[in-house]
Amino acid sequence: MLRQFELVERVKSYDANADEDAINRAYVYAMKMHGSQMRASGDPYFSHPIEVAGILTNYRLDSASIVTALLHDTIEDTGATSEEISALFGEDVAKLVDGVTKLTRIQLQNVEAKQAENFRKLLLAMSEDIRVLLVKLADRLHNMRTLNYITNADKRRAIALETMEIYAPLAERLGMQEIKTELEDLAFGELYHEARASIMARLRFLEREGGYLVGQIMDELDHTIESSGLKGYVSGREKTPYSIWRKMQVKEVSFEQLSDIMAFRVMIDEPEDCYRALGAIHASYRMVPGRFKDFISTPKQNGYQSIHTSVIGPAQHRIEVQIRTQRMHDVAELGVAAHWQYKQGIGNVAGRQYHWVRELVDILEHAQSPEEFLEHTKLAMYQDQVFCFTPKGELITLPRGASPVDFAYAVHTEVGNTCVGVKVNGRIVPLRTELYTGDQVEVVTSKAQKPSPEWESFIVTGKARAHIRRRIRTEAQAEYAKLGKEILQKRFKKEGYDLTKEGLVAACNKLHLEDRAAVYAAVGEGQLMARQVLEAIYPGVKPDQEPKVVNIVKAKEKGRAKGDTAVPIKGLTPGLAVHMSECCHPLPGDRIVGVLTAGKGVDIHTIDCEALKDISGDTDRWLDLVWDSDRIGGFHLGRINLVVLNEPGSLGALSMVIAQNRGNISNLKIVNRSNDFFEMDLDIEVTSVRHITNIIAALRASPAVNSVERARR
Ligand code: MN
Repeated sequence: MLRQFELVERVKSYDANADEDAINRAYVYAMKMHGSQMRASGDPYFSHPIEVAGILTNYRLDSASIVTALLHDTIEDTGATSEEISALFGEDVAKLVDGVTKLTRIQLQNVEAKQAENFRKLLLAMSEDIRVLLVKLADRLHNMRTLNYITNADKRRAIALETMEIYAPLAERLGMQEIKTELEDLAFGELYHEARASIMARLRFLEREGGYLVGQIMDELDHTIESSGLKGYVSGREKTPYSIWRKMQVKEVSFEQLSDIMAFRVMIDEPEDCYRALGAIHASYRMVPGRFKDFISTPKQNGYQSIHTSVIGPAQHRIEVQIRTQRMHDVAELGVAAHWQYKQGIGNVAGRQYHWVRELVDILEHAQSPEEFLEHTKLAMYQDQVFCFTPKGELITLPRGASPVDFAYAVHTEVGNTCVGVKVNGRIVPLRTELYTGDQVEVVTSKAQKPSPEWESFIVTGKARAHIRRRIRTEAQAEYAKLGKEILQKRFKKEGYDLTKEGLVAACNKLHLEDRAAVYAAVGEGQLMARQVLEAIYPGVKPDQEPKVVNIVKAKEKGRAKGDTAVPIKGLTPGLAVHMSECCHPLPGDRIVGVLTAGKGVDIHTIDCEALKDISGDTDRWLDLVWDSDRIGGFHLGRINLVVLNEPGSLGALSMVIAQNRGNISNLKIVNRSNDFFEMDLDIEVTSVRHITNIIAALRASPAVNSVERARR
């Protein structure tokens, strides 16, 4: 275990301005808080945070990161609180420790491969500061190094799997090859113990057999570089058992060639000399076609730079050679952490490392100091997404602003189509609630539910929108057909003709429509007039075209006299084939007329609506409508116009009266305001015209109300 002064010395070796005092206090605090807690290894628990801090000194991290590493388990495993840490070590450290604690609390185990990418994104999204992720990676590395002390095999396996699927790829994404390789190899040893052991045995055997060759090859390569007048050195590196195993899996071959187990590196001082070194090597040895890759001119997304080639080397052995500078090497091994070391004279090379995080690049190029870079590096790339869980722990990724309805459609189309309610983190919330990362969402479904047109106002995903539109279109078609059939039946009856199946089928052709259902739907949607259908079936008929212009009084009389030809709007959902107009807000029980509007269906107005005067006199578009019953279920929006005394308590008195009469105010708009009065429009949810009439009567009795009436426009 690293002693206190050793840790401080290590940090000071690369950062003369390190906050020595904070590191000392954190060291002592962690020891005190973890007290006599033990690790599975039998070591005192506090050895763990100290080792994690030690790992991070290899990456030359700043004091705040080291302090965070020392404190990273205190909130989760001891009585420490965020407030206490903030008071002792400052707000920044408290935030970082909170961040690590948050990551620790996510249950990632039993991760399926297809979910792994989502979990990786979740971790990135939750690590608002990159230091949180670095501490977490070091934490995981130390836990993996001591994994063998855990006695429960299932637990070991779960941790190893999670490391392989989540943490190693994250380290790679940050360009930290060294951590990635070690995590992978430790996880590999746990998950495929036998495979690793046999690869190791084979490696040792081949090493004994051909070990002298490695030295010979290195000498020859060294000579090649030197005789070309280049400055640099050559190193040989044994591949890890895991990378050998991966290669064997992918290529389905065993490893026998030296190139399967060794890679040679030529380290060159100057970047432009890398290509000269390549030329020298290709001039001395035959290159293997198809193996050459230039990651210097085109770095990998995580910033990796190197030239790769394979040649038939000394003694006819095929060998792989990587050519790079020391700096490219450090960036490859240390990744994001190498940044600090090359802060001076930073070029595009380090900038490119964060190519996959546009925001990060920006910060990199504009940050004044490594500290500032650390401070302001927000892992913003997944901030436009939210990550929510199903009750079974499956992760669903959604765009920011998504609602439970989007979530339901993301789970399954049927779940979306039938969702009636939702619980977020165990609480029932409205369907339009915005979801946040980490929310657990439970969708309540009902077979009776249909997608509502209203959902379109708050959903954000294309999938939800497409399904809702398709379902509404289907529903609307059915309603158009239903309405169209009623319209035709009433019209034919009024004119004294029979509407027969045979007649309609014969008319389809003339009307260029596919079948009877299409004729009904076209009439209901206002695309085809009932008169046109009549003429198609009974050519030469002179339909009753009087009156050309329906005035309101006449329509009233007509409705009263010929009630049996009025079309009932029974069973039609407002918003699909029939629409309650915004001007007069018709209610069940009101005398109503409909106006067919092409492509929309029927607009319903009260018979005395002022807006009817403006609607042109095409009588074919006018429909005599009746409510099927005054007691149509559900609530409808009624609008009243009020003049109220402008004095304290008026609005309260008013809403009290409405509530006592079981009305629900859904909108309130002040139209006019003077010293004495204000005038407003009030939208109230009511069941029928009788209901709103009662409310109006009650309002008239209120001393606060000057006048009140239903809005007519
Ligand atoms: Mn830990």
